[in-house]
Amino acid sequence: MRALLVEDDALLGDGIRAGLKLADFAVDWVRDGDMATRALLDHAYDICVLDLGLPRRDGLTLLRELRARGSKLAVLILTARDSREDIIAGLDAGADDYLTKPFDLGELQARLRALVRRAGGVASPTLEHAGVVLDPASRRVSAQGVPITLSAREYALLLDLLGHKNHIRTRAQLEESLYAWGEEAESNTVEVYIHRLRKKLGTDFIRTLRGVGYQLGEAG
Ligand code: CA
Repeated sequence: MRALLVEDDALLGDGIRAGLKLADFAVDWVRDGDMATRALLDHAYDICVLDLGLPRRDGLTLLRELRARGSKLAVLILTARDSREDIIAGLDAGADDYLTKPFDLGELQARLRALVRRAGGVASPTLEHAGVVLDPASRRVSAQGVPITLSAREYALLLDLLGHKNHIRTRAQLEESLYAWGEEAESNTVEVYIHRLRKKLGTDFIRTLRGVGYQLGEAG
């Protein structure tokens, strides 16, 4: 899952980015409204954590433009503006959730998990396919009831595939989901992690659609 963090405060941004990484997001961090707009046009994100008071372009303006373009991206406003009027304005501008500073990192992570599963059309807190169960809150994975240990990248890849269950994911999309800016992937890295996941979860768990991408195999 890939997140765009829009925050101009260096210290705060550093902390939020670390928290998002712990919640298994690949994080792109921008510090002003113009860069955020450009990033949103150039990349597909699963979630956006948006500050309101920003240099160059205010967060609310940015959000309204995003919705005017028809984007359905899940947006959580994270701001020091805590008046009832501000919260109403933020939600009415198209935010999916609103959290005020100071905030608890655990609460932010839980709210983002809720937004991601809603965006994927899922209400259950765990993701499941063909006997494989992933719990994003505890980061536990099991297959047919047996606990499975995954590396961070394997876990992130599985999370992406389960979160886009009925979609074909191209290699480029999976790379975007696994890597933030500045941590560019080696050319065959997605194939390597797919191979490792198949070894742990079964060869048929992930299908290769030659020349197109990957998809979870038929259940059952
Ligand atoms: Ca700010």
